[in-house]
Amino acid sequence: MNKTVYLDNAATTRLSDAAFEAMLPYLTDGYGNPSSIYSIGREAKNAIENARNTVAKAIGASPEEIFFTGSGTESDNWAIKSAANAALFAANAKKGRHIISSAIEHPAVLNSLKNLEKNGCEVTYLGVDKHGQIDLDELRRAIRSDTALITVMTANNEIGTILPISEIGKIAKQHGVLLHTDAVQAVGHIPVDVGEMNVDLLSFSGHKFGGAKGVGVLYAKKGLLLPPLLHGGEQERGRRAGTENVAGIASLAAALDAALTRLPLSGVEQMRNRLRDGLLQIPRSHFTGDPTNRLPGIASFVFEAIEGESMLLMLDQCGICASSGSACSSGALDPSHVLLAIGLPHEIAHGSLRLSVGTDNTDEDISYVLEKMPGIVARLRSMSPLWNES
Ligand SMILES: *Cc1c(COP(=O)(O)O)cnc(C)c1O
Repeated sequence: MNKTVYLDNAATTRLSDAAFEAMLPYLTDGYGNPSSIYSIGREAKNAIENARNTVAKAIGASPEEIFFTGSGTESDNWAIKSAANAALFAANAKKGRHIISSAIEHPAVLNSLKNLEKNGCEVTYLGVDKHGQIDLDELRRAIRSDTALITVMTANNEIGTILPISEIGKIAKQHGVLLHTDAVQAVGHIPVDVGEMNVDLLSFSGHKFGGAKGVGVLYAKKGLLLPPLLHGGEQERGRRAGTENVAGIASLAAALDAALTRLPLSGVEQMRNRLRDGLLQIPRSHFTGDPTNRLPGIASFVFEAIEGESMLLMLDQCGICASSGSACSSGALDPSHVLLAIGLPHEIAHGSLRLSVGTDNTDEDISYVLEKMPGIVARLRSMSPLWNES
């Protein structure tokens, strides 16, 4: 059997043992509908409410501020679209349809914003510096009387940069503007506390920290009468219709509980640093993102005169699972918007590689990658016209 070294934990993670155990009862005998009154229904309902308590405690919220959704993507769509519909939203009734975001958001945020722009919203995208940080003065200057929402991610999924959400939250508060943050890469990886972060809305997703795929959370601060995105039944106190993914919700809470006991992820960070130091030995390689304010697990690079997708294919032949910002789902090789936003030229942004370390990885995994990569880069460069020219 081929060796597999999984270093794409920012894309998704293995279901943790705790999460698997927590799901089992609801995949077997505990199949009741949580809205039903008989006992297997009530047990399912209890499982959801226990999960809600766990999740609330984990991020410093109250249970009534936690809403379960179908994904991080849904949570982002819900927060952004509902906040933008100012007229519908009591807390935002006097605001307009101007939104402030950043140039390095996840597509779940960027494409929600794009959709709103088609429907009459105006969006200001703050640029970032070479580390992926926004300028807080620029943020202050961008706020207008009609600004309904600021949405800036807690940590970037491609380059690992952690943004100063708490500072952004203070600015938002001073101006009476709501703040949403996509914390999908942060929750379970670094401490997240909604009070300290001064946020009104926060999204995250279970499968990024050992939970099942297809379950997300939206935190909405008490008092925010967030209109639903999905209309239907009375689930989630009438705010998110659809029969709950009970097993998935139970797995998310169990995975989060387990993930928090592992913080801080110093072992992961050490492996990340070995990857950084080792791969920077390759000539004309660069480490991307913030050197210090960054997620423990993300090692992100660009290699000059390399095409990211070819690198991924060769890594795959060695059993190494990684990702590249230039790998586009459409097959078109557009360089990553994040790498362009940090100022990398197109041709260099094409040679990106993201290795995301998780708690399942071992030092042996890292050694294996460090052993394979120099040969892969050398071989691709030997075939590259760009390398000959340079
Ligand atoms: C993975 C990810 C999402 C999407 O979450 P899903 O649950 O996969 O929909 C959103 N934002 C960021 C930063 C992510 O990394």
